[in-house]
Amino acid sequence: MATYLGASRGAHYPFWALRRNHLWEVDGADELELTSGGRRPTLAALDAADPLAGLPKEDFNLVSRDPEIAARIAGSLLLRFFDPLPVGLLDALGLTDLLAGRIDTSLRPRVGETFSNRDTVADAYGGNRVLGITPLADGILTVYSDEKGPYADTRIDGTNWIAYTGDGLSGDQQIRNGNRSMARYQAEQRALRYWHKPYGGQWHFETWAVIVECHRRWGRGEDGKMRREYVWVLVPVPSPLRETWPQEVIDALNEDDGSVHDDSLDVSPKEAGETPVSDCERYRRLAAAARRTGSGRTQRSRRVQVDRYFRSPAAREAVILRSGGRCENSSCAGHPTELTDAGAPILEVDHINDLGRGGEDVPETMIALCPNCHALKTRGSNRQGLRMSLLTIARARHQAFAEQE
Ligand SMILES: [Zn+2]
Repeated sequence: MATYLGASRGAHYPFWALRRNHLWEVDGADELELTSGGRRPTLAALDAADPLAGLPKEDFNLVSRDPEIAARIAGSLLLRFFDPLPVGLLDALGLTDLLAGRIDTSLRPRVGETFSNRDTVADAYGGNRVLGITPLADGILTVYSDEKGPYADTRIDGTNWIAYTGDGLSGDQQIRNGNRSMARYQAEQRALRYWHKPYGGQWHFETWAVIVECHRRWGRGEDGKMRREYVWVLVPVPSPLRETWPQEVIDALNEDDGSVHDDSLDVSPKEAGETPVSDCERYRRLAAAARRTGSGRTQRSRRVQVDRYFRSPAAREAVILRSGGRCENSSCAGHPTELTDAGAPILEVDHINDLGRGGEDVPETMIALCPNCHALKTRGSNRQGLRMSLLTIARARHQAFAEQE
């Protein structure tokens, strides 16, 4: 212990603070010369006395009697303060045998544990009872995802990756509090715990996960107003130990340079109170945002899915804007006049060529259709011919819209 603590000046402060909290005993503590208004001994006094110190007897007995408890404590401390583990640390601490194959399995909670509410989680494992991003008592960061309200986090289509909305209920989110913790875990490539509560269900510790990307996008705050929010891309991993992570995850971590992918720059929602622009200008910006791809990125399928997930709202919004609230099929037999509860026209935004067949997420190859025309395009016997003509329509309307002043 001395070699590790001795490395930095002031390392005796925590050594002494533990004693004040009755987690640590120091032989002959009463005879040491104190400083700082009696709060702690001088380093010189500690060096001179070189006292024996350690866990209180009861704790010591418990830990020496029960290797499971010892492993749980050591595992938590190592993951919290020494992750990733420096080579040789376990040997130096004499923990190799105790922790062999056990660092992660000794940790509690275990993946899959279920609780009826946040209070029972906190009663069992400590930590804050309300915050969405907060550590448990063992100090390891934990994120909670409740499948209701504005914080419904989603799996990114076609993957098991998770788009997790950051911390901050209303107003533009900032990198502080929970988001600061997320940024730190992202930079340090550390695993956190992901808890999920399905709609009407219970909280359960679903998986360990690492953060491979940070995005910024427009979303609706709890006050109903549009604001910029952070979205963290979480990838499930089998355990907090890096050697258990699939190559795909390691690759994703290596490709992440920590920069924020800002999907909120090109265009802002009409209601966000920014300088109003014409519909055509707005369309051009949305189309540009949709086209913008993560430049210089290896086009691995997962990455393409992530890009698509964040870009497609801009493409959809552009198509809706271009449609003017009407089915874009020029041979439409009659668009329904009825509106949705929200007062929106009944329209389905469709990729004219299916995504799986190379369709792009850009408005010139997408179209807004009424449910009838959508069904004809999907299931009608003339669907091949219809697709061709819809493609021509979409391109022409895109052109006209993009060039108008
Ligand atoms: Zn139609």
